[in-house]
Amino acid sequence: MGRLQKVLIPLLGLVLAFWFYSARENFKPEMLKGKRVIVTGASTGIGEQIAYHLARMGSHILITARTEAKLQKVVERCLELGAASARYVSGTMEDVAFAQHVVREAEASLGGLDMLILNHVGASYFGFFDGDVEHVRKLLEINFLSYVAMTTSALPMLKESEGSVVVVSSMAGKVGFPFTVPYSATKFALDGFFSSLRQEFNIQSINVSITLCILGFIDTDRAVRAAGEVLRELPAPRDECALEILKGAALRRRELYYRYSSTRLPLLLRDCAAELLDYLVRSRYRLPDTPGT
Ligand code: NDP
Repeated sequence: MGRLQKVLIPLLGLVLAFWFYSARENFKPEMLKGKRVIVTGASTGIGEQIAYHLARMGSHILITARTEAKLQKVVERCLELGAASARYVSGTMEDVAFAQHVVREAEASLGGLDMLILNHVGASYFGFFDGDVEHVRKLLEINFLSYVAMTTSALPMLKESEGSVVVVSSMAGKVGFPFTVPYSATKFALDGFFSSLRQEFNIQSINVSITLCILGFIDTDRAVRAAGEVLRELPAPRDECALEILKGAALRRRELYYRYSSTRLPLLLRDCAAELLDYLVRSRYRLPDTPGT
């Protein structure tokens, strides 16, 4: 009996894994052809790369961020790459009214919306928590409240198109991270709000998918400048990251992990060995070089 169990249980695991993965649909770029998409924080970094991938796939793109000159260049490049259409709206997500205005612009210019990609992130510091409560409030407005406001405004259009919301978060939104306390708090808030909203959509049979993207260290200028010196790991490429986000979104995944090895795998420890996971997170940093130590 013992021997039978030893063989049967792994076999059952293999069969289930095969069924689970073979039943899943594969990504095809045509899935995003002609789709109407908003990408926030698209003047640079991962958002810019998402816009370029969408352009190659033939989507209608509306991008937003604060810096108009950069947005203009991204729009020009999107049109060169084959976007069905590309336009921008500039402004700050500190202002909830602006977040709502971007969605209205999409409605007026695109006549609806298939995908809302929430990716922007406000500037914060890298170091021990300095007690600045006002900074935490401001960061919550940019990184969290504007995400809520845009989703709320876009929901009627997304319900109509049976579309998708894509929320770009971080490992720092799943497990406590040192030196980015206010940032981590805003990312945890996103998980709480959007994972709960997904439950309600399910209960109400609302066919709008919510994909929460859990990213590790990515080679954007901001992230490398802030943490490149103190992190022991090498950053993953932003263009590949952007493509993985779009694949997860098009396939309506509930969560997307990139890279899997530095995000999903360590998170398996969270429930059974939380202190070990905390230790592994701390050991990613070269502590003697860290500000304040
Ligand atoms: P970047 O700093 O490269 O880009 C941030 C974008 O947000 C820019 O387009 C910026 O444009 C815009 N932005 C900043 N402040 C505001 C504001 N107040 N209002 C409107 N737009 C604003 O970030 P990344 O590409 O590195 O990160 C993208 C997402 O990925 C973020 O949500 C981040 O948390 C997440 N992530 C990134 C990781 C990484 O290692 N890079 C790791 C884990 C998660 P502008 O300044 O012109 O407004």
